[in-house]
Amino acid sequence: MRKRIVAGNWKMNTLLKDGMELAKAVEKLEKEKTSDALMIIAPPYTHLSRIKELIQGVKLSAQNCSSAEEGAYTGEVSPDMLKSVGVEYVILGHSERRAYYGEDNELLNRKTKLALSKGLKPIFCCGEVLEEREGGKLFDVIREQITVGLKDLSIEDMAKVVIAYEPVWAIGTGVVASPEQAQEMHKFIRGLLVELFNDEVADNMTILYGGSCKPSNAAELFANPDVDGGLIGGASLKAEDFLGIVNAY
Ligand code: PEP
Repeated sequence: MRKRIVAGNWKMNTLLKDGMELAKAVEKLEKEKTSDALMIIAPPYTHLSRIKELIQGVKLSAQNCSSAEEGAYTGEVSPDMLKSVGVEYVILGHSERRAYYGEDNELLNRKTKLALSKGLKPIFCCGEVLEEREGGKLFDVIREQITVGLKDLSIEDMAKVVIAYEPVWAIGTGVVASPEQAQEMHKFIRGLLVELFNDEVADNMTILYGGSCKPSNAAELFANPDVDGGLIGGASLKAEDFLGIVNAY
């Protein structure tokens, strides 16, 4: 059976003290969860090493990493640095990184390969903007993002990757994809993985939905056969809401 995951992307929110409180609250509630979904949190870089000491059941992710191994790259954080403080996952290709920092599919492919080579598990994000959906280009966009972003990964590498489908028009907008829209795209992605890799990779891939997911709409999204959990932004900043989404399974 595929691993179910609910991951919280804190983005650039919380100061250290608040982040540590939130992590402690999430860890406490993890023990009360009624579903088998794995809980992951992705705090800002500055909080990672301190938060690592506060969590056990909850797993730790970074929100980004460098495409370079080490050296003269001011302001960058390498996969090795993340590993050295106990980070297990890394979100790559979030639409905010693509839109505000010009991260393209080729760069994301380099980041994904480097992260994997250093033992991190990428949560690889893809998603279309509204004009692309309305213009009927949505499947082409997702095909390109995944084909190039995950290019040259081995079957063994793919077993460590998680994919997050996050329609950009649904992120932070309160407009959630309908369960049918989510299922349609997740099914398409799984079919694409058969084409690019094989049946086993496709069957075993955890594909998360992201975009205005809340406790009140998570159950109907997660009821879809190809939706294996969620990547949660805003609602992951309140421990109870985050647990509410986890328990929607
Ligand atoms: C996200 O940024 O990954 C996200 C899904 O945000 P939100 O849940 O706030 O829409």
